[in-house]
Amino acid sequence: MAYLQFLGAAETVTGSKHLINTSNDPSGRNGLQVLIDCGLFQGAKQWRLKNWEPTPVPATQIDAVILTHAHLDHCGWIPRLVKEGFRGKIYATPPTIDLCHVVLPDSGHLQEEEARFHNQKNTSKHKPALPLYTLEEAEKSLLNFEPVNFGETKQLSADFSFRFVHAGHILGSAMVEVFRQQGSQRHKYLFSGDIGRVPDHVPTPGRVVSRGPETQEDPEILVMESTYGNRSHPQDDVRDEMAQLINDTVTRGGSVVVPAFAVERTQKFLFILKELMESGRIPRVPVFVDSPMAIKAVEICMKYTAEFNEEAQHLVSAYGSPLTWQGFTFAIKQEDSKKINQVLYPCIIVSSSGMVTGGRVLHHLLHRLPDPRNLVMFIGFQAPGTRGAIIKSRADSVRIFSGEVPIRAQIAALEQFSDHADTSELLRWMRTFKKQPSATYLVHGENGAAWLLQKAISEELGWKVSIAKWLEKVPLA
Ligand SMILES: [Zn+2]
Repeated sequence: MAYLQFLGAAETVTGSKHLINTSNDPSGRNGLQVLIDCGLFQGAKQWRLKNWEPTPVPATQIDAVILTHAHLDHCGWIPRLVKEGFRGKIYATPPTIDLCHVVLPDSGHLQEEEARFHNQKNTSKHKPALPLYTLEEAEKSLLNFEPVNFGETKQLSADFSFRFVHAGHILGSAMVEVFRQQGSQRHKYLFSGDIGRVPDHVPTPGRVVSRGPETQEDPEILVMESTYGNRSHPQDDVRDEMAQLINDTVTRGGSVVVPAFAVERTQKFLFILKELMESGRIPRVPVFVDSPMAIKAVEICMKYTAEFNEEAQHLVSAYGSPLTWQGFTFAIKQEDSKKINQVLYPCIIVSSSGMVTGGRVLHHLLHRLPDPRNLVMFIGFQAPGTRGAIIKSRADSVRIFSGEVPIRAQIAALEQFSDHADTSELLRWMRTFKKQPSATYLVHGENGAAWLLQKAISEELGWKVSIAKWLEKVPLA
């Protein structure tokens, strides 16, 4: 009997990996074994340690990976899968592949830096500490990628095909419709990946991609994210709160640190920042975009402007490429990054990683967190257990580079920037389905969020829905 097995993002928000086995034996020899997403576990140590374990199914026996989008919790384990002997194809949309060309080598670079740091400071029980994968290994894994356009049906075997449809989450993000032929019966399963804000009659604040999530779906089985299953996003315009926070910080002589995913999220934030400056709502303080991949990231976003909504397209045509803006500095080299520490007048620093799990934002926070004049402004989801979540919770201190750093700066979180649908938006999207799936499995959510969403779905829609458990196998009818 064919089955689906949850190898990640089950009972947690990271490490997305869902295995489809179409054969009737666990080795997959009589059919296909396909992974939907291959993400990195981030956050709590119990999950992060799983990055070091081999997949429960040997990488050599997996035939293909179908990737929903370029966030690390969905694609960041791909280089490790290839390192462990995976030789199949990785299918993704063209923008997702472009983004992976930036994101995966950067992730490899960060893994190497981390290992180097532990070896220098002797802070790992492993001698020597090794990277999960290197920059070179990440680059090598890119050779396995093959583009598949939205709406195109890709046949992987006589009885297995799939199609990407718009998810509306980030640039290139897709849901995967999987089709399996069993005799004369054609089964359809839908893997949501991450689901973007569901548009209303008023433009959803912070939303940039123009299309998705696709409506009128009719899968037998739905595997759906539940990141914000217990939340409702503010509906007001983010610009008012953002301007107020920046003005207050600059008035008291402080600087703003914005941890942000380097690709897309950073560019979206920059355009809003530029608009606030041009309209005179905030002063023209220097802006530093501190990421080794900053320029490439801008180039990818400018290549796909047609994918953006009308408002974002208007900003692009009004202001052109962020690379040309006066007062905006893109730090590429490590030395440029370090120099930002010497800036004593108010400035705005946008730096990755978005959940403060690594990257250059660490040294900016080390430097700026202890000063109450400064502001740390979160514009993205912070998975529990990450440094970002600890800072956002306004704890007394946070561990950075093996030392405790006091948190005295002001902390703010602008939830309007979220790229995830909230509970009411998810329900609104599900109400567009042509028919009720026979089973719905919730993944990619902490237990509380998944549990509340499960309750809302069964009470309001009457659907059969359960929370996926790590390593659980469910039959595919
Ligand atoms: Zn995502």
